Amino acid sequence: MLPWMLALACLAAPPAAPVAENPACPGCGSVVSEKSPTVVVKGKAYRACCKHCAAMIAKDPDKYFEKDGTPKNAKGGKQPAKP
Ligand SMILES: [Zn+2]
Ligand SMILES: [Zn+2]
Repeated sequence: MLPWMLALACLAAPPAAPVAENPACPGCGSVVSEKSPTVVVKGKAYRACCKHCAAMIAKDPDKYFEKDGTPKNAKGGKQPAKP
């Protein structure tokens, strides 16, 4: 393949699916893993700790996210008290 053809092929690649990067469930604050379900809210993907939280978040996103899409519990407002 000629180099310019390769470049065109790269440009024509479809955009990747949104990637969830939040370390904690926006619903309850539990830690999430790569195997956690992903929920897409307003075009951004978030990980939820379980399918119940995913459904909860999808149903009422304004309750769990700021207007800019940041999970409300990601701002450190409610840190768990250390023993
Ligand atoms: Zn959760
Ligand atoms: Zn959950």
